[in-house]
Amino acid sequence: MPHFVDSIPSSGIIRIRDLMYSVENPFRLDQGDVSFDAPDSVKAAMAAAVAANRTHYLQTAGVPRLQELLAEKLRVGNGIPVTSPDEVLVTNGGIHGLYLLFQSMLEPGDEVIVPDPQWPPTVGAIIAARGVVVRTPLHEARGWRPDAGEIEARVSPRTRAIYLNSPHNPTGGVMDQAGLEAIAALARRRNLLVVSDEAYEDVVFDASHVSIASLPEMYQRTVPVYTFSKTYAMTGLRLGYLAMADGRLRDRVRKLLFYTTGNVASVVQFGGIGALEGPQEVVGEYCRELRARRDLFYAGIEASTGVFGGTKPAGAFYAFLRFAANWRERATRPIPEAPGGGEGSESWAITEYLVRAGRIGCIPGADFGPGGEGFLRFCFARDRRELEGALASMKSLFA
Ligand code: PMP
Repeated sequence: MPHFVDSIPSSGIIRIRDLMYSVENPFRLDQGDVSFDAPDSVKAAMAAAVAANRTHYLQTAGVPRLQELLAEKLRVGNGIPVTSPDEVLVTNGGIHGLYLLFQSMLEPGDEVIVPDPQWPPTVGAIIAARGVVVRTPLHEARGWRPDAGEIEARVSPRTRAIYLNSPHNPTGGVMDQAGLEAIAALARRRNLLVVSDEAYEDVVFDASHVSIASLPEMYQRTVPVYTFSKTYAMTGLRLGYLAMADGRLRDRVRKLLFYTTGNVASVVQFGGIGALEGPQEVVGEYCRELRARRDLFYAGIEASTGVFGGTKPAGAFYAFLRFAANWRERATRPIPEAPGGGEGSESWAITEYLVRAGRIGCIPGADFGPGGEGFLRFCFARDRRELEGALASMKSLFA
């Protein structure tokens, strides 16, 4: 019997991951994981929590000390007028925060305006909440920044929220102050909520990160969503948080937080306290190294094949590269005949070629939405040797 959940799309990222497991000595530029390890402050705090038997049930919303530190970080670091630690809820990573939020925010048929291309779990979480995704195109020529006018053209009586993700996965676009102000004005004028996914807030290279929730009167209609995954290289530990001024929405999210996790793993939350209380230099060090890897990767791309091109991203750690329409003529090895991904999608076809003939993991642009066709996403947060290996392999795949 068919079921509603069958209608929620699966992410191609999972398909590629499975495909990568069949490859020996792969270059894992497909997944959005950093090669750094979590700082000692995190590991020591987790070890101490284990030694002190902090292995029991906790408050659903989070360890109070963690909520307190996060409220302070949001106020001082992000300029968001959070008035109490109670406004912060700790989640099992950003993906969980987004899921709970859309469940709590949307009624069936409510529309959310989402940039195209976009990280697929956002779309999945909206559809899982029986919401409707309305795509607004991003343009490479405009630095991949969403445009308030284009968003407004898509507002309907059913529009409930605008989803923003800056720095942006997969394109690396970073919103500027003027663009944020225009979207904030639109949200106020049309009485819309904003979901502001700031997972990559600390990975910015040639720009600075501003939260739309810090603009005048915006926190009351904005839910900023964060994660420790990228900032502190804690992807597998699963720690995220969101902040909400609206008490009713917060109560709903807290209820679903309880039903989906009881509380986020105690030891991991103590690791989060360690991250925030420990030295913060590591955040800048990661970012500087990521910039160097970005530059290394783009230099290699420019010098190598002529098949791929694109401008360096201002934030996040992905190269979203356009591939040449004639890539098949340039291929030096046999091209797999029936790619398993999207039917007739060239980005799936070239991905299969890179994986099978070159051991290079990447994500087909089509997986991020119709606006991503013609592109591939490579994660350059891998260590330099892996990036160099992938570049050399790529060079050998095209004449
Ligand atoms: N938002 C975006 C845009 C992301 O790319 C990610 C991670 N890939 C997340 C949120 C959430 O990350 P996590 O669940 O690891 O906290």
